[in-house]
Amino acid sequence: MTDLAVLASGFGVLPLAAILICILRGTFESHREQAWGLLSGIVGFLALSHAMAFVLVDKAYLSLVVGAAQAIVVPSIGLIVGAGLGWILFESDVFRTEPLRVLGAAAAFVALHSVGDGLVLGADFALGAVPSVRIDALAVGATVLHRFAEGALIVVPALAAVWKPRSTFVLLFVSLAAIPAAYVPGWVFDVYGASPERTVVDLAVPTFVAAIETMLGLILLVRGFLPLATANRGSRWLAWTAIGFIGISIVHFLVE
Ligand SMILES: [Zn+2]
Repeated sequence: MTDLAVLASGFGVLPLAAILICILRGTFESHREQAWGLLSGIVGFLALSHAMAFVLVDKAYLSLVVGAAQAIVVPSIGLIVGAGLGWILFESDVFRTEPLRVLGAAAAFVALHSVGDGLVLGADFALGAVPSVRIDALAVGATVLHRFAEGALIVVPALAAVWKPRSTFVLLFVSLAAIPAAYVPGWVFDVYGASPERTVVDLAVPTFVAAIETMLGLILLVRGFLPLATANRGSRWLAWTAIGFIGISIVHFLVE
């Protein structure tokens, strides 16, 4: 059996490699429009396509267990919490400058996404059966790219906020949230055993997290990345948004 600790640690640590993007500071300065466009495509997919697809599928399963009306409550509250979180990060006084707001929201998004990734990884191990996690060159390569792109969501805003590489590297640690999250499904199984309650908790927790991620990602896209991509009224950002969206989609086609 593949060791969960090894997989979860690898998963948590991979985004740290995105610190290498700091070498490209000069390239970023001269290609801001393309960089923000690319990030918009990536976060558009992760939040509005990937996380929301997860919400819709899990909500359907949840309604089989608790009924259609109750199943709507969990993702709806998650969306509202995500909206509140986005508002706090962008419109309250938590962060006083615009670059810090974008960076703070990006870091919160990657942290939430990492929790979601960890929950999915851990769910494969929770039943103590041989996990269905595929480990081959293609899956590993795609996972490295996937987590690297998520690290980039933090490193590029950190470059824009003129953060030093050392502080940026420390901020990337939010992706380590995947590690404890990977143990949650097993812990739920220990507490509830093979009871109906376990099925509800197993579905409700990741659905709730994914719903928050969806809404925070939407706000990060439309309030953070897109205005920066379109600031100079150029036309290149649109192509790069499409490239980012297609690229991160293909990476997910390879592993899911
Ligand atoms: Zn991910």
